[in-house]
Amino acid sequence: MNCYLHPHTPAVACCTDCSQPVCEVCLVRVNGKPYCEHCAVDRHQQSPFWAGVFSFFVPGLGQFYNGDWAKGIALLLTGWLILPWLYGIVDAVIVAGAIAQGERETTTVPPGYLVLALKIGMLGFSCLYLTLAWTVLGFVLTALGVSVAQP
Ligand SMILES: [Zn+2]
Ligand SMILES: [Zn+2]
Repeated sequence: MNCYLHPHTPAVACCTDCSQPVCEVCLVRVNGKPYCEHCAVDRHQQSPFWAGVFSFFVPGLGQFYNGDWAKGIALLLTGWLILPWLYGIVDAVIVAGAIAQGERETTTVPPGYLVLALKIGMLGFSCLYLTLAWTVLGFVLTALGVSVAQP
């Protein structure tokens, strides 16, 4: 089997996304997995640093970055309870490290342009999230206050 761009050069791997055979020159490794140059543009090397930053500003966002969508939603809903937020930061950093080493499946990890959008929108998300959490907390406190005030 020869490289799909260089018909006279033997392929050393197949691209993870498009399954085309690629030679040593065309091979790009991202998160330990082989890609062709074309598909590698849409992928990004997973960064534990960014996973931690995402989860610090918005609970669950680091999980979205890692492709753990269900876990991300669960943490997004419970993060204002502080403990799930702390757990989410640690989990995001560990999982991102595993993905970067190629030890975990990367099929659900969002493509590069989406990660860029997350980085740009993160602070906006953070403000929105704090506002929502504050409103919910206000409701809960008011409800508790009312029940306490009426013996
Ligand atoms: Zn490809
Ligand atoms: Zn090639």
